[in-house]
Amino acid sequence: MAIYEPESPPFEMVERSDWGAVAPDPHPPSSWMPVNGGVVIHCLGQDRVAPAAHSGCFTLVRGLQKADMSVAGVEKLPAEPDISHSYLVCVHGVVFEGRGVLVRPFANEPIPGGNMRYYAVCALIGVQDSPTDALIDAMNSLNTYLAGLEGHFAAGAELVPPGSASGSPGDGLRQAVESGSIVLPQRSGEEN
Ligand SMILES: [Zn+2]
Repeated sequence: MAIYEPESPPFEMVERSDWGAVAPDPHPPSSWMPVNGGVVIHCLGQDRVAPAAHSGCFTLVRGLQKADMSVAGVEKLPAEPDISHSYLVCVHGVVFEGRGVLVRPFANEPIPGGNMRYYAVCALIGVQDSPTDALIDAMNSLNTYLAGLEGHFAAGAELVPPGSASGSPGDGLRQAVESGSIVLPQRSGEEN
């Protein structure tokens, strides 16, 4: 069986080695079928965390990986094998590689089956931060890339329902989606 290799993204991405990711622990075998789901958009569950300087984004992503790998998850598993999100997008318009294309994320619990069929895309902003135009542009590029992937394409998108414990994705991102500024992958109709 051929090993699936995703296409390189057509935009600048900070790869794991470039933000200083530690190696993930072994992932347990798991079902992962984004063609049956798509993308879930998140923000971080604090009020205001968007770094003013881009160097702060690298620090933030490293801190998220450390926290995700050392704190018990909501499913009471020991700790996560890696940073929880598939990709992270900062207010300076840069995409950071998280788990990437090939591994299911661990951030989509509010959506039924969320971690088995949705990429988790996290804006590096808090609930009360506003998404910048640069963040929205980068998120759109990422969504387009994920929707166009051969074999592992994102077939649609979901937002965490209002009133979630984390407050994610926050009013700013929700409004950007509702106004059409953020373009989410769309489920196509029946194949002809
Ligand atoms: Zn940044």
